[in-house]
Order: sequence, then structure tokens, then C-alpha cells
Amino acid sequence: MGEPIPPPRACVAVLGGGQLGRMLGLAGIPMGLRFRFLDPVAGAPAGAVGDLVVGGLGDRAALDRVAEGAHVVTYEWEGVPADGARYLADRLPLFPSARSLAVSQDRVAEKRLCGDLGIATAPFAAVDDRAALHSALGTIGTPAILKTRSGGYDGKGQFRLDAPGDADAAWDALGPLGHLVLEARVAFTRELSVLACRGRDGEVAVYPVAANIHEGGILRVSRVPTVGRSSQAAAAAIARRLLEALDHVGVLCVELFETGDGSLVVNELAPRVHNSGHWTIEGAVTSQFENHLRAILGLPLGAPTLVMPNAMVNCIGALPDREAILGIAGAHLHDYDKSPRAERKVGHVTVLADDEATLDERLDRVEHVIRARPSHAAS
Ligand code: AMP
Repeated sequence: MGEPIPPPRACVAVLGGGQLGRMLGLAGIPMGLRFRFLDPVAGAPAGAVGDLVVGGLGDRAALDRVAEGAHVVTYEWEGVPADGARYLADRLPLFPSARSLAVSQDRVAEKRLCGDLGIATAPFAAVDDRAALHSALGTIGTPAILKTRSGGYDGKGQFRLDAPGDADAAWDALGPLGHLVLEARVAFTRELSVLACRGRDGEVAVYPVAANIHEGGILRVSRVPTVGRSSQAAAAAIARRLLEALDHVGVLCVELFETGDGSLVVNELAPRVHNSGHWTIEGAVTSQFENHLRAILGLPLGAPTLVMPNAMVNCIGALPDREAILGIAGAHLHDYDKSPRAERKVGHVTVLADDEATLDERLDRVEHVIRARPSHAAS
């Protein structure tokens, strides 16, 4: 790859200091790594595991400060301004690369890349004005979803169209937000994701596919294992093709729809560690966080193998009762040290079991404790 390999006690600069940065730090400290995070918020969760530079992610002076003494740069959020990432890439190795970032910042670029690689996505059309929306509906039909091409997350920046007559309302809602894309609504049976990690030398590790349940556009539960051998192989093949086409280094998450006949359709890409991979901390031999760090540092990857069946449940709005969660066999609580707020991910619980029936029973208990608290309650 032509980049110098960082020294054993390397310092990693991370753009973004949220819970993903915090979990990268928690995975890297045992390997002797140090961290510098850049985040606009003083008191961001990653401050507990490294130096926190407070400043805008596109602010040159703040970028200079976070890069001081760092050997490699990564990011925990694909919304980081591409300019800021490129600015740092001129002087430090940036992984995943500016290309991975640019593609994943644009839903149309993601779908075009998939199309070039023969990977299925929903039929789509770029939409830049009201007339283009009407004509896109003529080809794509309804039901459909209008989305912002960039910047949307957790279901934000989306409008569902059930009939062509919804076009004007959709345009009025999203038109002012910038470039848009119209997608056919996929009649999926399940939402899945596959995480894969590629090293600097091209070595690839693919994790078991997770089944994801969303509520109100926000991920609530991820569970593994969930698919048979042939779907796992199909998902791994998709991930490998994308990793190679992007010359990606680090973790890539591919969000998928599974349709009635078992085929897989790509929804979107995240060029980073991902919420649907938090289960890997206790549930895989090597977590997504450790493997991301190994990859960007040019170290050998660890096994992505499943340790035992498990499920991760997000704590949205507020944390559950700590003692009640920890009283459930196989359960682990992760507290991101964030103040409670409606719709905010403030922690997660991973619960493991030797067999599926025991996992079902333990997961019910975890859900019961988590749901016992109003989602916006103060902790
Ligand atoms: P996204 O921000 O693209 O991940 O979309 C949020 C959620 O909306 C997804 O998790 C799906 O439940 C749903 N969704 C998004 N795009 C589509 C689509 N083309 N067809 C059906 N459902 C979709």
C-alpha cells in the first residue's frame, strides 16, 4: 500500500469521539495503542480512553491538533467532511481511504458501484428537482422511498411514497435538503448486515451475518447466527467484492435486505465499525473494533469466528436498571456515558447463550428490563 507501518505503540487519530470511538479505544489500549479523538462536543464519550480535541471535524486548526503525534487517521462516522479527511490524508495514512468515504457519503455512488460489480440494489434514480421526481416515479413506480443522497441516518431524511400522488408532499418535505434519490421499496423479509474487515495487505475477515430489527428507523436488536451457509457465502462474496473494488482498509458494514427467495439486496454501506457489529465484542473471537485497528495499523487480522449465539440490544433514550441486567446470565452492559435523551443511543446490552432456546429466554429478560424504563427517562 506504500504507507509506512506505524510503530508498536502507535497513536491513532480518530475523527469523531462518540461511542464508536470509545469502543475503538477500549479495544486498542490492550494492544498498547494511544488515541486522539476530534469531536465538536466537550465531554464526548471517547474522552475516557484518549486525548479529546474539541473542535469541528472540518476545522483545519482542530484537524492539525488531532494529528499531532498521530501515526494513522481513521474515522468513526461517515459524515466527516470529505475535505477534512483529505486534508489529513496529505500528511498521514488515512484508512479507510477518502474514496471509501466519498462513495459511502452518496447513496447514488454506492448503488452505482454495486451495479458495476453486479451486486443487486433497489432500482433507483437520482432526483434533483420536482420534475425529475415525477419522471423517476414513472419508471420506478410505488411503493418507493425518497431519501437524501447524503447525511441521512437512523431513518432521517426519508419520505415513503405509497402512490404517485404523494410526489408533491415528498418533494416539499425533502426537496430543500439537497440532492435526493428515489428508491423502489424492497419487499424484504428481513434486514441483515455483514461486517468485513480488510487489512493493508488485502487479507479479509468476514463476520457471521447479523439479523437486525429496527424501530422508528433506529437499530434496536442485532442477532447472530442467523443465516445458513449459502446466504453467509453470498453475503461474504458481496462484502469481498466491495472491499476490493474500493481498496478498502478497515471494517466495512454492508446493510442488506433479504427477500422472500433468500436473495440479498444491498441497502447501504458504512465504511467504519458499525452498531450491528457491537455483538462482536463478546460474541466473536476478535471484535470489529480490534480488527479495524489491526487492519489500519498493518497488523495481521484476528479470527471473526462466532464464540456463541448472542444478541445485542440498544439502550435508546436511557440506560436500563444496571443490577437487573447484570443479574441475567450471559448479559453484558455497555454504558456510553452519554446523558439520556429521547432516541439517543446511550448504551447496549449483549447477551450470550450456548443454545438458541436459552438465548431466546435470556433475550426476553433483557428486553423486559430495557422496556421497563420509559425510553426518555433520566438515568
Ligand atoms: P436507511 O437509512 O437507508 O438504512 O433506511 C432506514 C430503514 O428504512 C431501513 O433500515 C429499512 O427498514 C427502510 N428502507 C430503506 N430503504 C428501503 C428500501 N429501498 N426498501 C424498503 N425499505 C427500505
